[in-house]
Amino acid sequence: MSSIPNLVTCLRVVVNRESQTFHIQWSDNHDCRFPLDGLRRACPCAGCQGHEKMHKLPDPEIFHLPALVRWENVKVEVAGSVGLRLTWDDGHNSGIFTWERLRAMCPCR
Ligand SMILES: [Zn+2]
Ligand SMILES: [Zn+2]
Repeated sequence: MSSIPNLVTCLRVVVNRESQTFHIQWSDNHDCRFPLDGLRRACPCAGCQGHEKMHKLPDPEIFHLPALVRWENVKVEVAGSVGLRLTWDDGHNSGIFTWERLRAMCPCR
């Protein structure tokens, strides 16, 4: 099986309800910290983004908007080798955040 060169893997995911952040640690020592509400707005499913926009990255601005909702019960599941499926307080879980997408959306840039 050929592997993708420079494949960076996810080591750890932490949902911090206190600080309302979603923290991903990668194998190359990079950390991504997303505000939970921003990540909810970035849900890649067709219902949230529409069919044309769902394959594009969201506007990075959404991670800098003030949070409108406090998320208290976010569940994270690994969706095979593809990425992460998040289930939000409102039961919404149609979007799979691929590893590439999570990494590309990182608000640190
Ligand atoms: Zn969605
Ligand atoms: Zn980053």
